[in-house]
Amino acid sequence: MTEQQWPEVYRKLGVKPVINAQSWVTSLGGSLMRPEVLRAMDEAATAYVDMMDLNRAAGEVVARACGSDMGLVTAGCSAAEVLMAAACMTGDDEARAEQLPDTTGMKNEILLFSGHRNRYDGAFEFSGAKIVEFGHGDSARPYHLESAFTDQTCAVAFVIGPFIKQGIGLEKTIEIAHAHGVPVIIDAAAEVPPRENLSKFIKMGADMVAFSGGKGIGGPQSAGLLAGRKNLMEAAYANSLNLNSPKAGIGRPMKVSKENLVGMVAALELYMDTDESAIIEGWRSKSDYIARKLDGIKGLKVVIEDTPTDRQGPQPVIYFERDWKGPSPAEVRQTLLDGEPSIRVGGGGIRNEINIVMVNVRDGEEKVIAERLLEALS
Ligand SMILES: *Cc1c(COP(=O)(O)O)cnc(C)c1O
Repeated sequence: MTEQQWPEVYRKLGVKPVINAQSWVTSLGGSLMRPEVLRAMDEAATAYVDMMDLNRAAGEVVARACGSDMGLVTAGCSAAEVLMAAACMTGDDEARAEQLPDTTGMKNEILLFSGHRNRYDGAFEFSGAKIVEFGHGDSARPYHLESAFTDQTCAVAFVIGPFIKQGIGLEKTIEIAHAHGVPVIIDAAAEVPPRENLSKFIKMGADMVAFSGGKGIGGPQSAGLLAGRKNLMEAAYANSLNLNSPKAGIGRPMKVSKENLVGMVAALELYMDTDESAIIEGWRSKSDYIARKLDGIKGLKVVIEDTPTDRQGPQPVIYFERDWKGPSPAEVRQTLLDGEPSIRVGGGGIRNEINIVMVNVRDGEEKVIAERLLEALS
């Protein structure tokens, strides 16, 4: 993208667009919305609507996509985490919903595997809940979870994401939590695609699951999805959409605009009809292009990786071998970042490799990336 092609809105503000080969990260704008989604949002902006009716209707679309009793469009996965925690503490008791984040008189402990601690888990505590860890670092045994329950436990949280260890696994976690009569709430923010994950965790017995709307689903960057069991979802509504009660709930600072609600629904419906394999093949052919361009450089090993636990979609990964004589991975990343357009690549995660995430690389940008990589590596 040359300066002439930068969207005028960004140019006027003096903000430079970037080539995003780092994934659906918040820091680079999530994902881009398809024209159909933008048109739906435009249209939504032309009329007033009863927001409760709109929320319930949008929620039904979410529930259908997730195979859950009920759904809700939230202001991102983080907001959904706040609402899941709140729902597990208050149930459908409106007085309790008004009381949060003061949890006096409520069960307020959320159990979380130590290996699942992450930069977003503060959202659970935002509600007033307390996280109680179990396990040792990146490992846990079923008895660690068993012995963590107290009479204050309101939920067991579970996190699924790249490079995040699974501990005792979701199935065992659900089994143990349910034996204690405690719900399981899941942060699966970036786990879509594949589409099947929208309903997979609910099918496994999870009580509530949260996804980002502005990552792989292609909705507004500040939207998300929450799906789950009827009683807990009604509780989530009570904590977020008590629109006419005297005191707004904990969800008030996380309201979703009518435009975002409609945009999220449009994106989700499009996504449900998308040929995922064609999209993934597109990522693969861009990966192949870059790998071919970097082929045969002494000291570098370029591999196309596609492990769902670590990598989001097929992508070229550049490993710097012992006989590599050129700039370090950090220097290469910096050179790419400093150039114009600025190119942001993945931070590796295994041994300081550079991974070029394809999910947000637009057609033709793979050529720019390959060219700039060759310069930066020389
Ligand atoms: C992105 C992400 C979040 C935050 O999601 P938002 O939709 O940006 O609020 C939470 N948890 C994990 C694991 C994530 O990857």
